[in-house]
Amino acid sequence: MAEPLNGACLCGAVTITAARWNGEVSACHCAMCRRWGGGIMAGFVAPADAVTVTGEVARYASSDFAERAFCPRCGSGLWMRDNGGDYELSPGLFDGAAAFPLVREVYADQAHRFAAFEGDHPRITRAEYEQEHPHVKRDA
Ligand SMILES: [Zn+2]
Ligand SMILES: [Zn+2]
Repeated sequence: MAEPLNGACLCGAVTITAARWNGEVSACHCAMCRRWGGGIMAGFVAPADAVTVTGEVARYASSDFAERAFCPRCGSGLWMRDNGGDYELSPGLFDGAAAFPLVREVYADQAHRFAAFEGDHPRITRAEYEQEHPHVKRDA
């Protein structure tokens, strides 16, 4: 992964460069992600110290511990991030993410039908996820 991964929002006002990233996409079907992402939120992980952002970014605190960021001009979703933690970047912003595989779905039992992805990746239910992450607010 020598070359940095370059991304941009729809209008181009925000650019994001990731010097390192994990190259695997996770999808979340929880109620917040469904609303925020039009049905799902997809993301791949990049460490905080490897991400460079230019342009104005709007942030929404979707919970006590996480923010969702978007371009205030065009509305493109940029990332979700626990406070100070790694970025979960939206793959669609990055042409170089086109071949990243889907490796995991969370809140899989909450998925809208159109977003029932095929494949053999792990599917974690809401109950399983919330048992593992007790700080997540029950949202529906
Ligand atoms: Zn924009
Ligand atoms: Zn979610």
